[in-house]
Amino acid sequence: MVMGELSQETDLMVIGSGPGGYAAAFRAADLGLDVTMVDMAQRPGGVCLFKGCIPSKTFLFLSELIHDARRAENMGITFGKPQIDLKALREWKANVIDTMANGLVSLSQRRGVQVLQGRAQFESSDTARLYDCEVSHMKFRHAIIATGSRPIPFPGMEFKPGGRVMSSTGALALADVPQKLLIIGGGYVGLELGTVYAALGSRVKLVELEDRLLAGVDADLVEPLHRRLNTIFESIHLKTKVASMQETDDGVALILEGDVEKPEQTFDRVLVAIGRRASSDDIGLENTQVERDERGFIKVDDRLRTTDERIFAVGDVAGGLMLAHKATREGKVAAEVIAGQPSAFDVRAIPAVVYTDPQIAWCGLTEEEARAQNIPVKVQRFPWKFSGRATTMGAPEGLTKILVDPDSGRIVGVGICGRNTEGLISEGVLAIEMGALAEDMALSIHPHPTLSETEGEAAELYLGSATHILSKKISS
Ligand code: NAD
Repeated sequence: MVMGELSQETDLMVIGSGPGGYAAAFRAADLGLDVTMVDMAQRPGGVCLFKGCIPSKTFLFLSELIHDARRAENMGITFGKPQIDLKALREWKANVIDTMANGLVSLSQRRGVQVLQGRAQFESSDTARLYDCEVSHMKFRHAIIATGSRPIPFPGMEFKPGGRVMSSTGALALADVPQKLLIIGGGYVGLELGTVYAALGSRVKLVELEDRLLAGVDADLVEPLHRRLNTIFESIHLKTKVASMQETDDGVALILEGDVEKPEQTFDRVLVAIGRRASSDDIGLENTQVERDERGFIKVDDRLRTTDERIFAVGDVAGGLMLAHKATREGKVAAEVIAGQPSAFDVRAIPAVVYTDPQIAWCGLTEEEARAQNIPVKVQRFPWKFSGRATTMGAPEGLTKILVDPDSGRIVGVGICGRNTEGLISEGVLAIEMGALAEDMALSIHPHPTLSETEGEAAELYLGSATHILSKKISS
């Protein structure tokens, strides 16, 4: 060992302090373990807090205000054109992040979790080297890898800080409001950030390789969103790809192939939102027994154990759905298993929410998965035009549907498209996790007038009679 280096030992070393890492560290500390959490960032929070969920939802909240103000015109209130102060917007975002990051620092301190800023690399299955860190060497009994994921760049083009070709990180920096913005990719990031930039005044075009937006989400849930996006984006081009892209001093020149009239087009900025890949290289896995799959995701079992008995992996780096709340649960399970508890990741329903306008949320089985896997389900839909609450909000385009196992009557999937679906989906998660019957959902009293009634009434419809909609039996 080099003189002057500081070595430490810890029960648990957590690498990465996003929602997977900090949830693991906090749970382990609550269970009595001595925990050290290492991250290159100064404060815990990870991609989610600093350049993902939280900044994007901060901006989406504001873009919803702008869209709502426009909608109010049809209801008798006319606001003036919004004055947008980008500097103030960025400061507000920084404030939100700051408040939450400081909260995490305080929670770490009060739990006795040592938070180190630095870059960790495994030297063996029980030691790691820490670079640019006040501690240079760590011996651990267990480690949890929670290093997350990063945006996939356009082939042959790395993201440059401040460049016109941006990842979600660049787009969330909100350097300016480009007049002409091209978004590559019609997934979560493309649709959410496209909504933000369109509200701020950009003319947004979107190209998507597949023949639909949000592949993997049931088409009937995506349809109301697609219709709305057609009104706020300049255009959406499905089955279209970027053949070439060249950044110049005053724009980005592209050649598009597919559903476009003019293949050669120039934009002020381009957002590349074509997915994320695991951050699993560069952490010294070759010095351990940890195995990765062909896409770089770390292989884990249902206890989040890797193929190295001392090392666990959670969150995006461990594959599966790349969602913060999935990482959080996995982090807790890993901490509990390390503390000797009989814990496992055995969830039946991981909810997903797309924070567009309208939002889409779903959990459990989707209708298209059921069809593809030949799983018999009865699907019951409740269109929001029959909901009093949706009508008061001028939001009749929404849809709530439940999927029921016809043999047992159990709810196996819930999907919702509409305003404010984000909180509504939790009823579906609880129902599926508890093995609830459609009857349980129907007989639970839902407050009136709320959007949650659409779930209760979908379940009532399944049973044959719902208050605000005629059942097929009656209407036919
Ligand atoms: P995504 O996988 O959701 O969507 C990527 C889209 O890009 C796909 O529709 C794909 O067909 C398309 N695509 C791929 N290559 C293309 C190309 N060359 N040209 C045109 N289209 C192309 O990925 P994302 O939107 O980058 O999001 C990354 C991850 O971040 C997601 O998996 C999601 O889990 C997570 N995320 C979640 C939320 C949320 O929970 N609200 C928000 C943002 C991101």
